[in-house]
Amino acid sequence: MNDEELLRYSRHVLLNEIGVEGQERIRAATMLVIGAGGLGSPAAYYLASAGVARILLVDGDSVDLTNLQRQILHTTDRVGMPKAESGQKTLAAINPEVDVVPIARRVEAADLETLVADATVVLDCSDNFATRHAANRACVAHRKPLVSGAAVRFDGQIAVFDLRHEDSPCYACLFPPGDAEDELCAVMGVFAPLTGIIGTMQAAEALKLATEIGETLQGRLLLLDALAMRWHSVRVSRDPGCPVCGPTAARQAG
Ligand SMILES: [Zn+2]
Repeated sequence: MNDEELLRYSRHVLLNEIGVEGQERIRAATMLVIGAGGLGSPAAYYLASAGVARILLVDGDSVDLTNLQRQILHTTDRVGMPKAESGQKTLAAINPEVDVVPIARRVEAADLETLVADATVVLDCSDNFATRHAANRACVAHRKPLVSGAAVRFDGQIAVFDLRHEDSPCYACLFPPGDAEDELCAVMGVFAPLTGIIGTMQAAEALKLATEIGETLQGRLLLLDALAMRWHSVRVSRDPGCPVCGPTAARQAG
């Protein structure tokens, strides 16, 4: 790191757990942020300000007036602009040293394979189960850590699936594909700061994974009831019959 970088990241360097070595790991990390909305906005803010090398910012939508209540990457004058590009502008203003790659399309499975292979950590900040399951399948295939977040109404949740560990559960162990959960997230109400809380925690877990410090949410699901402001923690185990990471998965896929 040069002198300016040492200054910019000094408050991280001052932390014994991070230091110069940890900050250099952050400076070398590529973060795949799927979704530049309520969760992806705060997540990408902190990843950019903390100085990751690259952010692959994926979002196929354009900025809409109804987004601005919580999607803090975007501004009123950017209504109509692709969210990935709006996010790139905001993040470049915070930290021009970060290479933000806008991917302004809805990613499909084949797309995700390539993107996940390039990533150090994957942050699922999407709002639909098709993307969530596609991201999980790619993370299982490439053994990449996945930080999964969700927020709807006053309910938030966050979990880490670190597929580098042999005994790690995956997203599909917890939410089996085909469990017809609603696809109505896009039209349900959501409490604005709840997305900020969960998205910010996703950035925290992603940075811990990149620097290999502390204990992550690996194998735990944290649930937040923001109306009561109460957290619950639930242990998540690997499902031996999981169609994605279980022993029969390869046969089914092949
Ligand atoms: Zn699984």
